[in-house]
Amino acid sequence: MVFRVPFIRPVFPSPAEISADFQEIAAANWFTNFGPKERQFAAAIGARFGEPYQAVTFSNATLAIMGALLVLLGRGDGSRGVLVPSFTFAAGPQAIQWCGYRPVFLDIDPGTLQPSADDARERLERDPAVAAILLCNTFGIGSAQVGEWEALAAEYDLPLVIDSAAGFGSRYADDRPVGVAGTCEVFSFHATKPMAVGEGGAVLTRDPELAVRLSEFTNFGFSAASGAVAPGLNGKLQEINAAIGLRQLERIDALVRARQTALAGYRERLGDDRFGWPEGIERSSVCFATVLLPDRATRDRARDALVAGGVEARTYYSPPVHRQPHFAADAAELDLPGTEDAGHRVLSVPVYADMSEEDRALVLDLLDPEGGG
Ligand SMILES: *Cc1c(COP(=O)(O)O)cnc(C)c1O
Repeated sequence: MVFRVPFIRPVFPSPAEISADFQEIAAANWFTNFGPKERQFAAAIGARFGEPYQAVTFSNATLAIMGALLVLLGRGDGSRGVLVPSFTFAAGPQAIQWCGYRPVFLDIDPGTLQPSADDARERLERDPAVAAILLCNTFGIGSAQVGEWEALAAEYDLPLVIDSAAGFGSRYADDRPVGVAGTCEVFSFHATKPMAVGEGGAVLTRDPELAVRLSEFTNFGFSAASGAVAPGLNGKLQEINAAIGLRQLERIDALVRARQTALAGYRERLGDDRFGWPEGIERSSVCFATVLLPDRATRDRARDALVAGGVEARTYYSPPVHRQPHFAADAAELDLPGTEDAGHRVLSVPVYADMSEEDRALVLDLLDPEGGG
């Protein structure tokens, strides 16, 4: 089905710009393996956050999460777990399994779409076999409790990896940029994210040793002198993707402002009474506009009306990860009522940096046929 208003419409550099970049890359005859564009892109991301932060680029964010867990924890034998919310994208729990750990699913509060640090503390009291925490800045929205998570991780001496896949350009409640918290944070530059490259990702960390080991992980675990010194794979970002990333980096703040303006327009018309907005969404890079409706029937009706009217609406994350067949063994006897509730009531509608008035009006009229008068 072709939608008049598709869910995602990335704003990319022009074909002429990308073609100019490719001519430069071809002239240098250097297409991947930490070439000049990748070096410049990693440095530019690091510089955006300032000292002491460093960025390590990856070919995608899933491998970046894997790299972070593997470098921080070593390979597991399946006996230990990593705390992770079920209300997230499956990439994180998949990465946990690839590293030899069990996803230990946490419930969320539907109001924040975030797990509570107090619940996690209880879990840690009961389950000494937890090796790390994978917090998720869901939909790129910086967790309002991130300081509590950092304190909890410090108290239990656990690494805190934060999946901020969609959160490049977002800010936390205290105005720090998303990226600077935890042991490290992971960004995706997938075509569906506000900071869109196609395929790509990065880890941001203030630990220079971790940065070196993550970079080695992307290159078969090679260290300069000795060949393979650690588990690794091929997770390198190629030059053309880094070149696109450099161009996107120059205008990401303008793109994010435009997305926030579009979100504010939705919110002004829809109000905060009938539509529940996740806490802090206005400080995020707004990968799409997510609302919670009062109940499942209302949500389903709204989605059906949008789709019938040519607007591609989605219901992330429904089903949540613990309800997906592959994770059945990790979900046995799990009861996550907040997660189920959010999955039944959540609805996400498109937001673009260059969204036209007409497209925005169509979304609003379908979502709220009675309102707007
Ligand atoms: C998109 C996304 C990922 C995966 O990113 P890739 O770069 O496609 O591997 C991981 N986690 C979350 C929460 C995401 O939204």
